[in-house]
Amino acid sequence: MSIPENIEKIKNSLPAHVKLVAISKTKPNEMIEEAYKAGQRMFGENKVQELVQKYELLPKNIEWHYIGHLQSNKVKYMAPFVTLIHAVDSLKLLITIDKEALKNNRKIDCLLQFHIAEEDTKFGLSLDEAIEILDSSEFKNLANVTIVGIMGMATYTTDVEQIRREFKNLHSIFQHLKTKYFSEQLYFNELSMGMSDDYPIAVEEGSTMVRIGSTIFGHR
Ligand SMILES: *Cc1c(COP(=O)(O)O)cnc(C)c1O
Repeated sequence: MSIPENIEKIKNSLPAHVKLVAISKTKPNEMIEEAYKAGQRMFGENKVQELVQKYELLPKNIEWHYIGHLQSNKVKYMAPFVTLIHAVDSLKLLITIDKEALKNNRKIDCLLQFHIAEEDTKFGLSLDEAIEILDSSEFKNLANVTIVGIMGMATYTTDVEQIRREFKNLHSIFQHLKTKYFSEQLYFNELSMGMSDDYPIAVEEGSTMVRIGSTIFGHR
């Protein structure tokens, strides 16, 4: 199947409120253009240099999402244009994003990344760590970052019940934070979960944003 057909098929399977982020990491610009021509506008990358190069060469109305682990010293390269940073996992990083956003005279939307998988190789916060950040006075002083939701990755396993449990856990963290910290902030709305192999489960468990690469562009 072609890229437009793959996108069409995924979109038809998603409820209308679930956003599709096409994960284009390692894929050439020609493939991104094919998806763009089919109407896809949100793309996600996990390497800063690759993100910047693609941003420079591709249509300017693409919404670029950064989905990788981000080092503070690289925030400046994406700060002028990035639409959403998915994987924020420290106060230090938030402070840097805030500073670079201010320099660019904009606000940057971010998601807090949570560690929900059993594997200990994956990045992300625990609920306690997130609470510590959200309660801190440093966080409360940040005027140029907006926490619009949270993200996480399930364990890479064929055990669908385990995957479901992990997504349920992420959803309950989302609800907890929304009630405790963001009940008046209508922008705290995004639950980014679900990849090629597990997005149907993620959607059943309340995902608002799926990040899909290989099912659209083929294996990497
Ligand atoms: C690569 C990646 C994806 C997409 O993975 P696929 O299995 O190709 O759909 C989603 N989220 C993150 C954080 C990734 O690094």
